Amino acid sequence: MVGAVILNRPVIAIFSLLLLTGCRTLPPPAAERTGEEIIVAGQYFPAGTRVVTWHEPGGYNAYQPVLAPDGSVRPKNHGLRRADPAGPEPAEPPDLAGLRDMVDQFVLHYDTLGLSGRCFDILQNRGLSVHFLLDVDGTVYQTLDLQERAWHATIANNRSIGIEIANLGAYPVGEKNPFAVWYVADEAGGVRLSPPLENPRIRTPDFIARPARAEPVTGIVQGKELVQYDFTPEQYAALIRLTGALHRVFPKIRLDYPRDADGALLLEKMPQAAWAEFGGVIGHFHIQDDKVDPGPALQWDRLIAEARRLQQ
Ligand SMILES: [Zn+2]
Repeated sequence: MVGAVILNRPVIAIFSLLLLTGCRTLPPPAAERTGEEIIVAGQYFPAGTRVVTWHEPGGYNAYQPVLAPDGSVRPKNHGLRRADPAGPEPAEPPDLAGLRDMVDQFVLHYDTLGLSGRCFDILQNRGLSVHFLLDVDGTVYQTLDLQERAWHATIANNRSIGIEIANLGAYPVGEKNPFAVWYVADEAGGVRLSPPLENPRIRTPDFIARPARAEPVTGIVQGKELVQYDFTPEQYAALIRLTGALHRVFPKIRLDYPRDADGALLLEKMPQAAWAEFGGVIGHFHIQDDKVDPGPALQWDRLIAEARRLQQ
């Protein structure tokens, strides 16, 4: 998808200048790192799961400018959070206290691309961004400091943190889907992911990605009957720990999801007033009625119950 770009000298000069001056990328925090930290306002916070930041080899850096095929630099794909969501971008990043006041939603997406490396390339090329990518082997990639407003969920961008979970996505029952191309029968009895790609860029060597449930999961989202393969056990383990960590850093992200009148998971877009009040873990489909991600397969009760258990 990403067209090859032949760099000429002026373009390299512009590119270098942008790298030097055009972004706020700070050096990595000076503190020691175990490899299981997220970066918030220039500081490390423990996440309890492997996080590859944009500073690391093999990481994904959303601060990096993207060149269009004609050599021009694409517009910025993120901006600083602001106290007034409709106001101009501030000159300085908000401090931690300011961020804790602003950030109250953790938005779950699936990427439909199946792998985090593909997802990052597509986001960059579309001028979009997201704070975290969660690959099939459970590796979390952080692409931006959480003080940045990533462009992933329209009206929720200023108040939210976003994650794209690698998964092929959900499809209407009976319609065409890519499952037969991407999954093969597994010796263990279920299926495993077999990406039709030369380099799937999965960080764990020889990793075998099996969905947490062997059969595709069918369910209703936004009134549509959809089918989807579940996320991997490694993705659940990482997502649970990351969710617990985000709650500790941002207490307004409560460990709960949007509920219907009976207290069950709401399976459609939230009414505007309820969304405005909601602080917690939320699906992209709760925010926009043209979205169905993270789809019917996501095990919300498992995620929330286990993230709560980590707080005890
Ligand atoms: Zn989404």
